[in-house]
Amino acid sequence: MRHERSKELFSRAQKVIPGGVNSPVRAFKGVGGQPVFIAKAEGSAIWDVDGNRYIDFVGSWGPMILGHAHPEVVQAAKNAIDRGSSYGAPTEAEVKLAELIVERVASVEKVRLVSSGTEATMSAIRVARGFTGRDDIVKFEGCYHGHADYLLAKAGSGVATFDLPDSPGVPSDFTKHTLTIPYNDVDAVRRLFEERGKDIACIILEPVTGNAGVIPPAPGFLEALREITKKHGALLIFDEVMTGFRLHSGGAQALYGLDPDLSAFGKIVGGGMPLAAYGGRADIMNRVAPEGPIYQAGTLSGNPCAVAAGHATLQQLAAPGTYERLDQISKRITDGLAAAMSEAEQVGRIQRVGSMFTLFFNDGSPLRNFADVKKADHAKFGRFFHGMLERGVYFPPSGYEAVFVSLAHTDEDIERTLEAARAVLTAL
Ligand SMILES: *Cc1c(COP(=O)(O)O)cnc(C)c1O
Repeated sequence: MRHERSKELFSRAQKVIPGGVNSPVRAFKGVGGQPVFIAKAEGSAIWDVDGNRYIDFVGSWGPMILGHAHPEVVQAAKNAIDRGSSYGAPTEAEVKLAELIVERVASVEKVRLVSSGTEATMSAIRVARGFTGRDDIVKFEGCYHGHADYLLAKAGSGVATFDLPDSPGVPSDFTKHTLTIPYNDVDAVRRLFEERGKDIACIILEPVTGNAGVIPPAPGFLEALREITKKHGALLIFDEVMTGFRLHSGGAQALYGLDPDLSAFGKIVGGGMPLAAYGGRADIMNRVAPEGPIYQAGTLSGNPCAVAAGHATLQQLAAPGTYERLDQISKRITDGLAAAMSEAEQVGRIQRVGSMFTLFFNDGSPLRNFADVKKADHAKFGRFFHGMLERGVYFPPSGYEAVFVSLAHTDEDIERTLEAARAVLTAL
């Protein structure tokens, strides 16, 4: 494959944009080499500026669950922008989207629309602190909740890919209320709450971790968090920015049968446009301004074009059998990859929940937390990634990320992906 035009754009980009990208993982630093610049996308495919076509398993890091440029979503956004792109005043469309979210997600009685996942989690935590009158929050190592100052402590995703301990620019005073413990470690949670439970406003977590690569919750883990938070008067926040509307129409919370107090959504809920949401129990959400004293606002919040794309996406996902189909497509891919691994005598492990999975090159044992993921062979993942890319398959450019399967992935895509994987794994 030729990448002349991407190379040229990357050198221009690096002169005017830090690292040449507007979000760090896009730079390919986790796998080495240079990023390809994308020109267009349709269905399961993306094309770079040199005309190379790839089967896309990133899906804009999650939002494109229907595939790219889905006709209904495109039409909805076009119709909306024809009526003006933003008013800074309420609209009927945002009421409909809020109603849809409340209808789908059992624990959400009221919801506020914002513009990014970062904003959603940050606001949910502010509300949890305001509601409980407590300052401390608990997060898990390797979970990523956006780039708010106090949430960058031991975060996953790009922070993990680049092995950044904590980010410069974040005063230690700002993270002193962030208590970080290993994922899936109920004993650590119990100890922490016994010590300082009366100061803890909330636990925030990814109900299925995706930002350290896919780590499912151990049996009983989520239930224990529900019980412990209730007992100590703290709130439980599910960050479903990645899992919401992906693992189940009602989110990971429906899949595992649990009701958090607050939830954050993003990615899919905006259908590829900048839109996110946070919501939960009405008695808690009623404390948000202007109904209550906890302030949160946004000039472009509930933007009409983003709302239209998000609403159209959620409507498409309501078709019967959607999540079964996603699961079947994903299972065929991971079964095929597992077979290709053993054929090529490669050891490792594939962890999958629904339409998100990660292939880890480790000793084959289950990965339960961030420490396990760190021990995997990320250099080998980098070689795997580049081998796949050269064969026209675009996987996430980091071993700390999830692969996203969409409804647009066809039988032929699966065959071609597995064929590429067999060749790459044999040559690794
Ligand atoms: C992507 C993501 C975020 C951040 O969302 P942005 O829209 O990138 O700000 C937060 N939490 C989780 C779980 C995510 O996957």
